[in-house]
Amino acid sequence: MRKSVVAIVGRPNVGKSTIFNRLVGERISIVEDVPGVTRDRIYSEAEWLNHHFNLIDTGGIDLSDEPLIVQIREQAEIAIQEADVIIFLVNGREGITAADEEVAQLLYKSNKPVVLAVNKIDNYEMQDLLYEYYALGLGQPFPISGTHGLGLGDVLDETVKYFPTDLSTEDDDDRIHFSLIGRPNVGKSSLVNAILGEGRVIVSDLAGTTKDAIDTDFNRDERDFKIIDTAGMRKRGKVYENTEKYSVLRALKAIERSDVVLVVIDAEEGIIEQDKKIAGYAHESGKAIVIVVNKWDTVDSKQDRMKKFEDDIRQQFQFLSYAPVVFLSAKTTKRIHTLMPKVIEASENHAKRVKTNVLNEVVEDALAMNPTPSIKGQKMKILYTTQVATKPPTFVVFVNDPSLMHFTYERFLENRIREAFGFEGTPIKIRARQRS
Ligand code: GDP
Ligand code: GDP
Repeated sequence: MRKSVVAIVGRPNVGKSTIFNRLVGERISIVEDVPGVTRDRIYSEAEWLNHHFNLIDTGGIDLSDEPLIVQIREQAEIAIQEADVIIFLVNGREGITAADEEVAQLLYKSNKPVVLAVNKIDNYEMQDLLYEYYALGLGQPFPISGTHGLGLGDVLDETVKYFPTDLSTEDDDDRIHFSLIGRPNVGKSSLVNAILGEGRVIVSDLAGTTKDAIDTDFNRDERDFKIIDTAGMRKRGKVYENTEKYSVLRALKAIERSDVVLVVIDAEEGIIEQDKKIAGYAHESGKAIVIVVNKWDTVDSKQDRMKKFEDDIRQQFQFLSYAPVVFLSAKTTKRIHTLMPKVIEASENHAKRVKTNVLNEVVEDALAMNPTPSIKGQKMKILYTTQVATKPPTFVVFVNDPSLMHFTYERFLENRIREAFGFEGTPIKIRARQRS
């Protein structure tokens, strides 16, 4: 099931990022510290009264080479394109400007639900400023103050009213959903075609309400798959479509709907910083991952090159140590048959549930082999371990005192659990909890 998406639009300096940060709050990512990954905070999960949704700060998509009015227009287009509900933010202290009017026009024509929020109404005496905004023709203006956190509840109450109700459609089936991510030109589209060339394509349809994410269902060896194709999206020549932030946004949206994420790398060009960043997003999502080294046809004396390339990947993507690596060529389709078995395996491991008694035997054996260390004279006692979730597999270790769980010991337990149960392709999470 996908989450509703809300986008904030408005001119620079009306307070978009202030509001975004307030609504997103302090989100804790599942990765404590991924080297080389700086989170571009323009897309994040947010929550209001049990509604979990994703929020986009369109102001963060930098189009700085363009004239201001073009930037504002393009950002509004992104909101219309990507969001289910749009929060249109204006500055209550400046009145309606020509740019506000232009955005209002675009939003009006789009037929997307819009909630008009008038920011910088920092106190009650300023409420009178609100009335002129009815003239934008977008219904009732809501007074808010980003810096003081006033009025946001009313805006969110109004926003969630417009959330689509049919988000759980076909996505809750037993097909394996996967997407391909990677920087431009690594061969994602070619790979999609190569994969589909191998299988029987059932339908090719437009997914949900996002007009340009083309999902394709196909069947291979009695298994059903859905490719969530960000690569195949139509290029309409909009300015924003070539910006890095926008492609990251698209990738994050695709990752979220996937069970397995294929991180595609170009063998010819090797690994660059942008690949690491993209891989970092995949890892943070908690999805199953397969690393695909494409364009392997361009590499000679392949046997030892493969080993070298894999070593390089392991070195550079240390946080993805669980992800299998496949080498193939989308162009010649050489070795392409090695891909789907890894996708299936990763997906199965991602959803795997292990037996509690066997799990506890494994942990006991681990303890016997490597007793828990003492920290400040205190020894951690492990009482019981249980798997509390799948996708990704998540384990809770009940201990006498969680503060005594050192990350190296946690890593040790993770390795033992991986060895015992084979979780290739999926991250696993381990949490220590106090046994009361
Ligand atoms: P953005 O360009 O639309 O993302 O705007 P920012 O969030 O960066 O805010 C622009 C400026 O407006 C900053 O100096 C904020 O501190 C200020 N600001 C944001 N919200 C409010 C508000 O509710 N009241 C007042 N007085 N200032 C605000
Ligand atoms: P995308 O931007 O990631 O979707 O990449 P494309 O699928 O559009 O491919 C980018 C370029 O790489 C095109 O010129 C492809 O023909 C080429 N390409 C894709 N896969 C391979 C491959 O396996 N080997 C070689 N030599 N070229 C490839």
